[in-house]
Amino acid sequence: MEGPLFVDDPVDVQLAPMEHLIRIEHIGIAVKDLSAAEELYTKLLGEPPYKREAVESEGVITSFFRTGPNKIELLESTRPDGPIAKAIEKRGEGIHHIAFEVADIRAEMERLKAEGFTLLNAEPKRGADNKLVCFVHPKSAGGVLVELCQEIR
Ligand code: ZN
Repeated sequence: MEGPLFVDDPVDVQLAPMEHLIRIEHIGIAVKDLSAAEELYTKLLGEPPYKREAVESEGVITSFFRTGPNKIELLESTRPDGPIAKAIEKRGEGIHHIAFEVADIRAEMERLKAEGFTLLNAEPKRGADNKLVCFVHPKSAGGVLVELCQEIR
């Protein structure tokens, strides 16, 4: 069959095994005031965050909420020149990145490089919530900062 495949039953789509970017693991949201944002998202999602975690290397404090099988990651900068502070300066608060779960981060980094994407780090690095992470430059990904993340076991 030519062209996109349309599936009548969305359950079929869920059952199809994903090999590469397995699912959306979380959506990262840049915030100015973590406590105020936690209050807002607790009201929005109807549940408080399940953890706060600082990532010193990135200059951020994160706060995680569950929403079904996915998560929301709030990010507040701990320094004025950090990546989150800069993002807020440029674009204001809001969606900062989309993170996809991968089974083998090094293999996916190689695959995306071969597909012409620009990676922001050459080696996977330690991220929040027990993950190895790598970012894909938004200029090579249609304006979206993409994070690959692999659970550290
Ligand atoms: Zn993230």
